[in-house]
Amino acid sequence: TTLTSNDTVRLVLDTVEARNPHEPEFLQAVHEVLESIAPVLDTHPEFVDGGILERIVEPERQIMFRVPWVDDAGRLQVNRGYRIQFSSVLGPYKGGLRFHPSVNLSIIKFLGFEQIFKNALTGQGIGGAKGGSDFDPHGRSDAEIMRFCQSFMSELYRHLGEHTDVPAGDIGVGAREIGYLFGQYRKITNRHESGMFTGKGVQWGGAEVRTEATGYGAVFFVEEMLAVHGETLHGKRVGVSGSGNVAIYAIEKAHQLGATAVTASDSSGYVLDEAGIDVDLLRQIKEVERGRISDYAARRPGAVYVEGERPWRVPVDVAIPSATQNELDGDDARALVANGVRAVAEGANMPSTPEAVEVLQAAGVLFAPGKAANAGGVATSALEMSQNAARQRWNFDDSEAKLRAIMGNVHHAAFTAAEKYGRPGDYVAGANCAGFERVAHAMLAQGV
Ligand code: GLU
Repeated sequence: TTLTSNDTVRLVLDTVEARNPHEPEFLQAVHEVLESIAPVLDTHPEFVDGGILERIVEPERQIMFRVPWVDDAGRLQVNRGYRIQFSSVLGPYKGGLRFHPSVNLSIIKFLGFEQIFKNALTGQGIGGAKGGSDFDPHGRSDAEIMRFCQSFMSELYRHLGEHTDVPAGDIGVGAREIGYLFGQYRKITNRHESGMFTGKGVQWGGAEVRTEATGYGAVFFVEEMLAVHGETLHGKRVGVSGSGNVAIYAIEKAHQLGATAVTASDSSGYVLDEAGIDVDLLRQIKEVERGRISDYAARRPGAVYVEGERPWRVPVDVAIPSATQNELDGDDARALVANGVRAVAEGANMPSTPEAVEVLQAAGVLFAPGKAANAGGVATSALEMSQNAARQRWNFDDSEAKLRAIMGNVHHAAFTAAEKYGRPGDYVAGANCAGFERVAHAMLAQGV
């Protein structure tokens, strides 16, 4: 007797749940992917027979380590470091590092799992991984950040390498942290191995447009979705959450394309600026001064600060959640729909709860999951790796044109997979099916 693909999915989900208790974010991500790939399994019984599902939900390698460091007051601090090397079947492990107090095994595993399919979708030969620490960079001095990064890399370096595992930034890991992490790897290994980290400074091996790529790419993806219906971003109101790297450059690109981005946020609240968020001021406050979003409203005439709320009650045509996981729930989705939202693109990883996705899709809103909408960041990381390997540096305009083309390809892959597998217009199913198909073929070819 052979099992149907639905039975197999059910059995694998049961195993994953039993094996990974207390990992709600990881289970959420696994459910979302496995529940939408049934049509791929139906047309490719060899994926089921080859045990692709049983294998893909278990990371190839999980690394957890002690990160001891001394703070400015001379006290010993201990954090926990993680690197989950999920899949190397399409290329070296690739994915960011997150430094945030909420980081735990579940969060890093969900991010690593998503990264497999996102990276596959870019078509660029990169595997999936994620890492980070529960270290909180907020309020720490530069010297403390440096000591923490050095301690973190003193352990992690042995697992990295340009052909092995290539980290990058994520929440709490930006240009400053990447500099300290790369510097420590260089000193320990005696190798200036450019391709072992992406998001580097452009003067020492970094790629033009990498900083902007995730936010720009999310807006390009929205452009693609609207274009299918003969619409453009011109004149549209855009709601953005977050105020980090993704949010800042999503806002900038939205403005360049004739839209007005009216919100930004942090964990304390959001700002509404009807005139359009001033990107230079936002960047000054968040990146230079490392301040709070409330400072923005204090310094920008006409802007209002709403404490303790998320921006989803503000009427917008396009929403780009770019803060963190599960920041947009079912009620938020209903409010967006009631206010006539046309498109939602996830700049962050898994910012929408499963209920929110259901509400938005049921209402006919164009919904782009993070693994498609925010793939521009990691795709540009892959461009950085290419430039490092070739000892080249491409200019800004060429790099942006490449990013634009890649986002077009990612949209095309998700869109056509959704049609092919009988879910037209469903970018969640499309992205999962297209990404999974590429990974599964490679896994079968390379054997157990
Ligand atoms: N952290 C980003 C992501 O979620 C970028 C990863 C990378 O560039 O490797 O995809």
